[in-house]
Amino acid sequence: MNEQGIMAKLYFRYGAVGSAKTLNLLAVAHNYRQQNKRILILKPALDTRFGANQVRSRAGLEQEADIVLGSNDMIDETKLAGVDCLLVDECQFLESRVIDQLRFITTEYRVPVICYGLRTDFKRRLFSGSQRLLELADAIEEVKTTCAFCNKKAVYNLKMVDGFAVGPDSQGPVVELGCEEKYLPSCAGCYDAKILESASR
Ligand SMILES: [Zn+2]
Repeated sequence: MNEQGIMAKLYFRYGAVGSAKTLNLLAVAHNYRQQNKRILILKPALDTRFGANQVRSRAGLEQEADIVLGSNDMIDETKLAGVDCLLVDECQFLESRVIDQLRFITTEYRVPVICYGLRTDFKRRLFSGSQRLLELADAIEEVKTTCAFCNKKAVYNLKMVDGFAVGPDSQGPVVELGCEEKYLPSCAGCYDAKILESASR
């Protein structure tokens, strides 16, 4: 834990798909370990793209998560003893009550918590975990990436099915894991243009 009197911060580092959020998380974990500090990595059980316990970046680096949180779980706070930082991957999928607990962990245990995740889904609506983080976080930082179709900064996640862009009015489940190639980082202009183009085909 940190020294008395120093408030630990709650960070929300958000970015579109492909913005190397997990790579950033693993780099932070590496830096802490280099300084002989203890970190914990947490992820929601929902994200099972790469196996239940793995936190893996597209660059190929991976690491076992220390805590895999099911949808009805809360964090076991006894695990926080002696921890210098809690790192959270795919935080958009966490329940808002878990984000409340992360806030509590920073104030009560003085453990900094750094959350990485998407801000919005392909319909450009906030995920529940991301909404609560935008409400509670001390620091909100963008992890930037470039639009898949032009050179502007990506702000949205465009869903592609069989080569067609899927618009915000389409039905179906919001979360479709296991097919990550279906989501592309997109600027606002290309998001509209690709959906219009697909609708007219
Ligand atoms: Zn673009």
